[in-house]
Parts: sequence; C-alpha cells; structure tokens
Amino acid sequence: MRTLIEHGTVVGASDAYEADLLVEGEKIALVGQGLGRYLEKVDRTIDAKGKYLLPGGIDAHTHLDMPFGGTKSADDFESGTVAAACGGTTTVIDFAIQPQGGALAEGLEAWHRKAEGKAAIDYGFHLIVRDVNPQTLAEMDRLVKHEGVTSFKLFTAYPGVFLVDDAQIFRAMQKTGENGGLVCMHAENGPVIDVLTKQALEKGHVTPKWHALTRPARLEAEATNRVIALAEVAHAPVYIVHLSAAEALAEVREARDRGVEAYAETCPQYLFLSDDSYDEPGFDGAKYVMSPPLRPKGNERALWQGLRQDDLQLVSTDHCPFCMKEQKELGKSDFSKIPNGAPGLETRMSLLWDGGVRAKQIDLCRYVQLTSAAPAKLFGLYGRKGTLAPGADADIVVFDPEKRLTLSAKTLHMNVDYNPYEGRQVTGAPETVLSRGEVVVEGGRFVGKKGRGKFLRRAARQVG
Ligand SMILES: [Zn+2]
Repeated sequence: MRTLIEHGTVVGASDAYEADLLVEGEKIALVGQGLGRYLEKVDRTIDAKGKYLLPGGIDAHTHLDMPFGGTKSADDFESGTVAAACGGTTTVIDFAIQPQGGALAEGLEAWHRKAEGKAAIDYGFHLIVRDVNPQTLAEMDRLVKHEGVTSFKLFTAYPGVFLVDDAQIFRAMQKTGENGGLVCMHAENGPVIDVLTKQALEKGHVTPKWHALTRPARLEAEATNRVIALAEVAHAPVYIVHLSAAEALAEVREARDRGVEAYAETCPQYLFLSDDSYDEPGFDGAKYVMSPPLRPKGNERALWQGLRQDDLQLVSTDHCPFCMKEQKELGKSDFSKIPNGAPGLETRMSLLWDGGVRAKQIDLCRYVQLTSAAPAKLFGLYGRKGTLAPGADADIVVFDPEKRLTLSAKTLHMNVDYNPYEGRQVTGAPETVLSRGEVVVEGGRFVGKKGRGKFLRRAARQVG
C-alpha cells in the first residue's frame, strides 16, 4: 500500500517546509517536493494543500480503564484511543499499576490485557510502583531491559494508596540512574494534604472547591523541590508529571539552571482553566476535581513562559475521565470522595494549537516539540515516533489550521458525560489522521479499527 500526501507543509520540531510524503506500508518512505512526478503508481493520494503535516501526537500521560476509589475511569482502551485518534494523537503512554502487595509484572500483565484487542492506536506503559523493595528493584531492571517499560511513576501523595516514602523514592532513583530508566513523580505533599482535608471536613466544608483549598501550591512546590534533591543525590534524572503551579515550576527552573537533569510536563487544564471553575453552581465544581487542582488565574502565564523556555518540556493530558453521574457523584457530600481526574485526551492538540500557536504563545515547531518530538525523545520512542522522517512510523496528522470546532461532550468521542471546555470555540483541528500508514480518521470521523494498535517497547537512556 502506497499513499502519497501532497502539497502540505511538513512541520518538525526544528523546521517547517513545503513537501510531499510518500507512505509505504507502515512507514514513511520519502519526503520531498513534487514526488508525484517520480512515482509510477500510488494506491491513494491525499491532497494536503493549505494543511500542516504533523507527526502524530504523543500523549505521555493517560489513565485508561483505571480503578479509582471503587469505580474506574470512564474510557477504556477502545473509546480512549478512538478519541485520541480523532484529536490527532496516535500514541498514548498509559500507567500500569503494581497491585498492592503484588509484583510489577502482575500490573504490567493486567494492563496488557486491558489494551490488547481494544487499542486503535499504538501504546506504551509506564509502571506505577507502590512498594519499593528488593524484589521490585530487581523487576525494574527486567522491565527496562526486556519488557520495553523504561519509566516508573512514584507518588509523594495519596497515603495508604500510592504514597512511597523518601527512602523508597531514593532507592528507585538510584536504580534508574544505573539502568537507564526514568522516575516520574507525582509531587504533592500527601500527608499534609490529608491533615488539611480532615480538618476541612470536620468543619463541615464538603463542597468541591475544598478539594483545591486543601491542596495549596506550596505543597506541590515543596514536594517538587524534595524529589529533585533526591534525584540529584541519586545521580538520576527525574520527571515531574502534571506540574500545575508557578511555584513548583520555579523549583524545576532553579534545578535545571544548576545543571540538574529535571524535566516536567504540564497539562492543558492548567493552561486554559483556573480555580474559578470550582465556583460553578451546585455540584458542577466536581468536574474540575483533579490533582493537582486548578490554580488561580494568572498562574498560567508562568507555565507558558516555562513552555517557551524549555523549563517545561511537554504537554500531556493526565486524561482520567469520570462521569458526573454515578462517579463524580460519589463525593456529593464529601469532596474527598470525588474521583480525581478529568477528560483531555481528545482536545489537547486543538486546544494547544488554538491557545498556543494561534495566540502566539508558542511557534509551530515548538508545538510539535511539545506534543510529539519531546515525549518521543524522553520516553524512548524517537525515530520511530515524533518525527516525519524516512523510516519513521507513518503516524501523520493532516492538520487544518482553519477548521473551527465547538468543544462539547455531545460531539467529542470520549466516553464521559461532560467536558471541562464545554462550548469553547477553537480553530485548528485534524482533518485526516494516519496511524502506521493506515487512515484512521477522515474528515474528522474515526474510520479505523479497534485492536489494531500495537504495544510499543520503549528504549532506555544510554548510561555508563
Ligand atoms: Zn495521572
């Protein structure tokens, strides 16, 4: 199967130029001008005049089919990856979870079962480590060397559920310092947040906005500072997930300026929403209950600056949707029981285009860097994903910069009964999306097949 995509503007992380792309089978075969003249026969031609050709989006932070507080996230690997494709994302890296008292391998196995036969695009896994002990440390080596799982997530939050202490974090970091893996940190001070939560509930403060009031930015900054210090002493890189607060970003910037290998992602919700949303009438503030919480208006200016100056390296979503009905409602009389998370997988590329490139916060190449090239590089996929070069997987988004969309739960594909951006108008959306050479989205509609997505074995960092 040969597909020729003609007359587009190819955009990479470092340049943008007019060119055609020839796709042969699952790979990009040629990039050049006037390719049609040299080719005797192609099976399909796509006219991309006036469109950008982007490497497929990579969302390095999703939670599909994830158990949480007696329920599970509303998108499974089928609905979640269909929505991703419609939004211009062709790779997700999801989080497999070590069962309490179990082995990392059991968690990995469980997530393979969730994804196989369902995923419509390619996927990889990070592993959430809940218990760092001699057995898990040995398993970390095995996962990095043999299973293509090269990143691990640990938490300074959620005591009794995910929290690990500083000593465990430090041991895990020493391990990835040796084996070329990467420790990703959820950085908020969970034990102190638990005290604040308990005190708020004792005073009868039960509404959604108290979720934000009990998770102050200072406690995100403190945990960020602490895990960076641990990484520095362990001689290992560290990656901060879903960084939300300007104060936490200041810690990352300060460390990077000293030459520490600290990386961080932020998410669209922290760029485009604020804690004003918690004041929506009734129980509607629950739509925005996520951790870390939304921050005050103005905070986003620091995040944009961080994205421009490379103190923030990428934009992922932390996609973790729960329906208002029967799920968020679990916390109707107690904000601490509201499942944490919101949908974002399908809207990331358009929001960041509209509010980033069109709003002149970032340029075209930086957009590709943040949404595709950087996640590919940091998580061991570069070359295969994250670039439109010959030999790379033909994960291609034909992006229409003028297409207008009104974001709404009714028209989006995510399996959730609300959208945090309901009614927001954005300009710029995928027109056609290819995943490994196959057209999976056409005219904004999903035309691919569930189950065609493949597990991606990711590479480790070069060490030693
Ligand atoms: Zn998350």
